[in-house]
Amino acid sequence: MSLAPANHMGHAMAQGGVTMPDMPFSVVKRDDLVPRCPHCAQELADVYMRTKGAGFVEGKNVLYFCHHCLKVLGFGQSRMI
Ligand SMILES: [Zn+2]
Repeated sequence: MSLAPANHMGHAMAQGGVTMPDMPFSVVKRDDLVPRCPHCAQELADVYMRTKGAGFVEGKNVLYFCHHCLKVLGFGQSRMI
């Protein structure tokens, strides 16, 4: 039995759906499209956010959540503080 080359990288990495901040994709500005919530599939004309008070959110971290089902959409870094 020989050592197999380590070039068989599977795409099933257990990252838990974490979005990379520096993914190499092109950004197209589409203000005419309304994003939908991945949880309740309703249109997100607005996205709620809060900066503190959630316990696990500290400092300048921003928590974004859907205003329909109030489920968390993601986290961000606020640079306005
Ligand atoms: Zn929702």
